[in-house]
Amino acid sequence: MIYLDAAATSAVRREVLEAMWPYLTGDFGNPSSHHGVGESAARALADARATVAAWLGCRASEVVFTSGGTEADNLAIKGIALATPRGRHIVTTAIEHEAVLASVDYLVRQHGFTVDYAPVGRDGLIDVDAFAALLRPDTTLASVMLANNEVGTVQPIARLTALTHELRIPFHTDAVQAAGWLPLDVTTLGVDALSVSGHKLGAPKGIGALFVRGRIPIEPVLHGGGQERGKRSGTENVAGAVGLATAVRLAAANREAQSAAAARARDAFMAAVLAELPDARLTGHPSVRLPGTASFVFPGSNGETILLELERRGVVSSSGSACAAGSEDASHVLLALGYEEDVARTAVRFSWGPEVDADQLAGVAAAVGDAVREVAALGR
Ligand code: PLP
Repeated sequence: MIYLDAAATSAVRREVLEAMWPYLTGDFGNPSSHHGVGESAARALADARATVAAWLGCRASEVVFTSGGTEADNLAIKGIALATPRGRHIVTTAIEHEAVLASVDYLVRQHGFTVDYAPVGRDGLIDVDAFAALLRPDTTLASVMLANNEVGTVQPIARLTALTHELRIPFHTDAVQAAGWLPLDVTTLGVDALSVSGHKLGAPKGIGALFVRGRIPIEPVLHGGGQERGKRSGTENVAGAVGLATAVRLAAANREAQSAAAARARDAFMAAVLAELPDARLTGHPSVRLPGTASFVFPGSNGETILLELERRGVVSSSGSACAAGSEDASHVLLALGYEEDVARTAVRFSWGPEVDADQLAGVAAAVGDAVREVAALGR
């Protein structure tokens, strides 16, 4: 079996699990406890926070550990919008992850916010001029993802933040899919808040982090014991934080070489699939995209049936986001990119980690050709 659904989740890396183990067993303490067991946990948490901060180029005090990407997005969107008295207007895009879209929707329904969605092109790239035109003196927050989880397109975040900074509008980016592949230095990106999630990087599900710039006010979503400097109450997931930090260290060590190799393998894979199947269309931008994602539509075919045929051939992939995969709806991302609903339903996303090589992807391209031809031959 070859697993090409890394954008949905990845396996926990052995080094990550080994680093976590002590904090689930002997050093299991609560970091708030004033005894040796607690202090050991508190030290591990502080070390993990320092590692994540170094990765993002921020201060340790600007890192909030969360239960994952969804919570980080919720905290950024609701927390910053509700703590910023300048207005009730949000600018985002229609291709964000549901964690962002639904958080914005909550603010609209329950707190009287209005929202504008900056347009994106067929390639998934935001229209920068249209984004600029939507910014207003009462805009409370802008949120645009660094890389899209379905089509892989990477947005020009530094250009967008240059625009929001002129108007002193806080800017959040969801970097969940970019983490491990792209540099996440928050100063270069110019962002005020950035979300990451452990399980896309080889850490477990249920741990993530939000960077929030020190001077940006933020209202907590979870209230309680005041952990994480009052920004996120709840006994800290020490082992999870240690796991995230270990995954970050591993990913950062070899990032540039791994990203370059994956991008070359991706380009060969995309070319091979398009050569196999002349009717297939790449979705997202042809080059400004994540190194480990290639996504296609197969007009006239059926995405779910292709996935089944691929799995029979030992290839595990997805129709888009894991959430969309379980539902009958066509992808909101592909619809926003201008695809017709019946074409959007033929989407298949292949996503992988650095352990997958070009030879394996060449085999997958041949299997994709066989699978799609088989679906056509069976008339399904
Ligand atoms: N944001 C993006 C872009 C994602 O792809 C995902 C997960 O699929 C999330 C947020 C949510 O992260 P988590 O699964 O850690 O809640």
